[in-house]
Amino acid sequence: MKSHTRVCIIGGGVVGCSVAYHLTKLGWPDVTLLERSELTSGSTWHAAGGFHTLNGDTNMAALQGYTIRLYRELEALTGMSCGLHHVGGVTLADTPERLDMLKAERAKHRFMGLETEIVGPEEIKAVAPITNIDGVLGGLYDPLDGHLDPSGTTHAYAKAARMGGAEIHLHTKVLHTNPRVDGSWEIVTDKGMIIAEHIVNAAGLWAREVAAMAGCYLPLHPMEHQYLVTEETPEIYERDTEHPHVMDPSGESYLRQEGRGLCIGFYEKTCRPWAVDGTPWDFGHELLPDDFDKIEDSIAFAFKRFPVLERAGIKSVIHGPFTFAPDGNPLVGPVPGLRNYWSACGVMAGFSQGGGVGLSLAQWMIEGEAERDVMAMDVARFGRWITPGYTLPKVIENYQTRFSVVYPNEELPAARPCRTTPMYDLFDGMGAVWGQQYGLEVVNYFAQEGEPRFETPSFRRSNAFAATAREVAAVRGAVGINELQNFGKYDVRGAGARTWLDRIMAGRIPQPGRLSLTPMLSEKGKIIGDFTVSCLGDDHFQLTGSYGAQDYHMRWFDGHLVADVTVHNVSDRRTGFQIAGPRAREVLQAVSQAHVGDIAFMDVRRSSIGNASAIVQRVSYTGDLGYEIYVDAMEQRALWDVLWNAGQAFGMKPFGMRAMMSLRLDKFFGSWMREFSPDYTPAETGLDRFISLKKNVDFIGRAAAEAERATPPERRLCAFIVDADDADVVAYEPIWIDGAVRGFCTSGGYSHHSGQSVALGFVPSDQEVEGLEVEIEILGEMRPARLVTTPLFDADTARMRG
Ligand SMILES: Cc1cc2nc3c(=O)[nH]c(=O)nc-3n(C[C@H](O)[C@H](O)[C@H](O)COP(=O)(O)OP(=O)(O)OC[C@H]3O[C@@H](n4cnc5c(N)ncnc54)[C@H](O)[C@@H]3O)c2cc1C
Repeated sequence: MKSHTRVCIIGGGVVGCSVAYHLTKLGWPDVTLLERSELTSGSTWHAAGGFHTLNGDTNMAALQGYTIRLYRELEALTGMSCGLHHVGGVTLADTPERLDMLKAERAKHRFMGLETEIVGPEEIKAVAPITNIDGVLGGLYDPLDGHLDPSGTTHAYAKAARMGGAEIHLHTKVLHTNPRVDGSWEIVTDKGMIIAEHIVNAAGLWAREVAAMAGCYLPLHPMEHQYLVTEETPEIYERDTEHPHVMDPSGESYLRQEGRGLCIGFYEKTCRPWAVDGTPWDFGHELLPDDFDKIEDSIAFAFKRFPVLERAGIKSVIHGPFTFAPDGNPLVGPVPGLRNYWSACGVMAGFSQGGGVGLSLAQWMIEGEAERDVMAMDVARFGRWITPGYTLPKVIENYQTRFSVVYPNEELPAARPCRTTPMYDLFDGMGAVWGQQYGLEVVNYFAQEGEPRFETPSFRRSNAFAATAREVAAVRGAVGINELQNFGKYDVRGAGARTWLDRIMAGRIPQPGRLSLTPMLSEKGKIIGDFTVSCLGDDHFQLTGSYGAQDYHMRWFDGHLVADVTVHNVSDRRTGFQIAGPRAREVLQAVSQAHVGDIAFMDVRRSSIGNASAIVQRVSYTGDLGYEIYVDAMEQRALWDVLWNAGQAFGMKPFGMRAMMSLRLDKFFGSWMREFSPDYTPAETGLDRFISLKKNVDFIGRAAAEAERATPPERRLCAFIVDADDADVVAYEPIWIDGAVRGFCTSGGYSHHSGQSVALGFVPSDQEVEGLEVEIEILGEMRPARLVTTPLFDADTARMRG
């Protein structure tokens, strides 16, 4: 083993080998992969080898598509076989809700270039004849589905990596990883030591233990998983062609042909976590004991769906562990708080996702950012608050719901409440219906006496509709109050604070007492944040952004910090309320000693409200006259009492996130990770109007922003009024123009104020014309829609600025 390497990858499973291959392919040949045993010695060797593109997140689905297409390339490059069986697959739907979900997926696939199709029961019977279609309403057919040889594929990745310059050392166990002052790492193994500029933790089943060597916690947990292989079956071996895969979500099963028999695996509700106290180092090429009790119900269901199974003897049982993150997506990217330490862990579908993980991570390491938005698998999407006590129940829940219908408004119950603000019990007593964001309980809406305290999961308008309408009416008609807990808030101080912000943010940095809105850009000009900057003093600023992006943003801030600036994440320490609506000023005046009439739009000032010392800023995401009032979390209850008591005389009502998202649609305001994400650029989304090319600063992303100004983008974010029925746009519905898919939606919903269904989405720039007639495909139905440019509320901004 050499003494130094640019990248040391720990782990020779399919993921580690894919990362090694992609690093060498993209131009970093000096890669050393260390494997404590043989390649594939973790989860990889016993995988069923199935692959598919279906994933609720479109970027993940696209990366899965990339992974699947890569295998042929890998075979051609290495001359090795991946044992590919591109047999196609069908996912069954036996409830209208599941069919809705599959239709929504199919619609997304249109603009992703994936050739899936919705098929009826008879077509399912024709392509997958061993399926009993009783009760089946339809399905989604994906010609890309298939399976491969897990070991052959991993070795093909390894050979391709070696061909690119990588060294692979087997039987070399990493014992310690020690950070060095220059940011590199000392990696101590049982065969000696190696210094690496970068570490990649691809240790799969042992990723927790390897992370702990660097003093960090990665939120993942192994689960037991079982599949059965049958004896030879005439219904299979007498066929001329290979039987396709069949995913039967109601039966929590996936089935495929294996040789002359079948292979069927289960995601049973009665699942079991594995190695709760840590993965034993001596675990290797053994399997877990068979456990038919655990899958008894699933097998009984499978016998009905695939009657041939009842007659087929079982040849072998594969029962092994593999890891999951709380939401089932991988944990990829630079680990917040550590220098040059990268995660490639928690990959629960290594043969669907391994290629995409390897590609994205290699791009990130070499070019500073991945080509597409990888937030869905970014290791920073979980905050520092996460603990094994949270991860374990969430991982179990994720396993249990792997085949469940996923509704856009669904709030999953495990590990809740986890984090609450001082308002929790009070709001609960007022009828709060809770959601969760980044571990925090947030009010979605307030149910009235007699209304259910639970929002029915649905693809269509839910039982929250009436409550949301009430709350919107209260804001637009009088004044609403909403907790400001779910903003990420950062306190920036120091002699160099303004200079630093000018470099980090693309927009203008305000003078004392003023606010500005600004995008934050990556080097390549992608949107990596949209912030409100409040200037609290010459050397003191507050930033507010997305609550869910705290670790993501802190990682960026820390990575770019300079000596005379400090940045503290105060998201949970600084909280408060926003009051919004035509009577908001009167409420604020009633609780303030100072005159508030002269607080202009985009002003910020310090103020005493009741006993609390507050930061008051005049801005509101509702698009209305409104104020954000921030205090220390210890003073939040006192602030509430003062505002709420004073507000009663002005018709104050509380409102939650459902109303907030409806109110912002009235003004076509975009939101983080819907309209504003690393997939999009400022000029595409209209955020370019907040970029200051006039400032004499080489801010990050400037060159890209200038280039974009010189060459306008090919697509633009636009608003549409949709002739919807009972289902509004959620995200990624295709937009059809003249019979062809020309764009897609980013978000949408019902504007209760205007009584119309609204969608935001991208269309080609030359189509951005008021009144353009389009069709938006919602749950498989074409809904007429019209492009609009005039906001549905306060179009002249008289109320917001008045
Ligand atoms: C029964 C079963 C069926 C499955 N079916 C499918 C399927 O059909 N399709 C699919 O896509 N996925 C499937 N999976 C999941 C798949 O196996 C995993 O997604 C994949 O194997 C993860 O690969 P990995 O490289 O991340 O981890 P692993 O395969 O666990 O590899 C980690 C490697 O790191 C090495 N290592 C750990 N610590 C150290 C150390 N300190 N020093 C050196 N080396 C170290 C280990 O020895 C190991 O080889 C299945 C899993 C199971 C259990």
